[in-house]
Amino acid sequence: MNAKSLTCRECGFEYPLEARYVCEKCFGPVEVAYDFSALASGDSESLKRRIQAGPQNIWRYADFLPVDALPQGPHAGLPVGSTPLVKADRLAERLGIDGEVWVKNDAHNPTHSFKDRVVAVASARARELGMTTLACASTGNLAGAVAAQAAALGLESYVFIPSDLEEQKILSTGIYGTKLVRVKGNYDDVNRLCTELSGERDWAFVNVNVRPYYAEGSKTLAYEIAEQLDWQLPDRVVAPIASGSLFTKLKKGFGEWIELGLIEGEQPAMFGAQAAGCSPVATAYAEGKNFIKPVKPDTIAKSLAIGNPADGPYAIDVAKNSDGSIEAVTDDEIRAGIKLLAETTGIFTETAGGVTTATLAKLAAAGKIPAGGRTVIVITGDGLKTLDAVRGSFESYEVEPKLSDFITHVENEVLVP
Ligand SMILES: *Cc1c(COP(=O)(O)O)cnc(C)c1O
Ligand SMILES: [Zn+2]
Repeated sequence: MNAKSLTCRECGFEYPLEARYVCEKCFGPVEVAYDFSALASGDSESLKRRIQAGPQNIWRYADFLPVDALPQGPHAGLPVGSTPLVKADRLAERLGIDGEVWVKNDAHNPTHSFKDRVVAVASARARELGMTTLACASTGNLAGAVAAQAAALGLESYVFIPSDLEEQKILSTGIYGTKLVRVKGNYDDVNRLCTELSGERDWAFVNVNVRPYYAEGSKTLAYEIAEQLDWQLPDRVVAPIASGSLFTKLKKGFGEWIELGLIEGEQPAMFGAQAAGCSPVATAYAEGKNFIKPVKPDTIAKSLAIGNPADGPYAIDVAKNSDGSIEAVTDDEIRAGIKLLAETTGIFTETAGGVTTATLAKLAAAGKIPAGGRTVIVITGDGLKTLDAVRGSFESYEVEPKLSDFITHVENEVLVP
């Protein structure tokens, strides 16, 4: 394994690769640090071939992940990643963007969100640490990802969700036979309960006590984007921010590959996307602050509704240091974003993808997408998970099974209410 320690992001103190998320010295968050010298000794072409010879899932990037061994056989879990990256010319045209727009469609994962990536890495490491129960504090998608991965691995699981979650997400989680706990409160309440529980139980709370491993899973999105662009970097990336983990780890992933010579050029400009009804990071960014004032979420983008985002300050750094920005869009813009993406690409995304698409639209309208470059938007979840958001967004026709009726009411475009 090339991972060598858990290192405090604030004071730099190093810990072994155990179940730990906070520094004992300064209470800063810890993250996985690597020594890639074994990979750097060869030439980059042979490293590319090594990656290409790997499995068609995130474990082709095992050299860059904190696991001792490739999960195999009964421990393989669900195959995650290798999701499509599609060129979206009609979306670019609709937005007046004179350059390439690509959609990374991470709804194409086993439980239809990017959370399968982070759960795959967290559960693999948890198993190596001898933990046999998976758990999580979820805004919705993580619950399904943990429940399904636990079922695939034959592990017990407990998932904690805010009790007002979308019905689609509750149903598509409970079915895996997990212990589904609906907490009367918002995500930040759920997270507080889980943080307390993680000290009391010997469970792997994927986004609490094994969070450093979980977070590394998001880097695989950056690796895939670079590999799918034929080992090139995009010029800019638009991605959603809930806790800020995905956003910051995209940058880490690109950075590691630049360092190793696998890809050439500069870090892409990183644009973060939040819902106006829960935009503590966008607000801090706009006010030029690097600390986050917690908010009470009120938005249809429930999967992004974290009022007190742990990685917020780091997300601000990523946007600033890359010439990007962090934007917020309203619920109406989110609904329009979902529709725009669906109509121009055939991809139906959940509300978080509406946030991302609406943010691209907002950047384009503000002239912040210069001509000629390549923009990737990261679509993190499936529209079937948030159907309420699109109810009433289009009309349909009802006819008798008669040709004349069809002609009168459809071809002549008479809408029956
Ligand atoms: C969890 C999630 C995100 C981003 O989460 P972070 O906490 O910022 O890593 C984005 N989109 C969807 C659909 C999610 O479920
Ligand atoms: Zn520290």
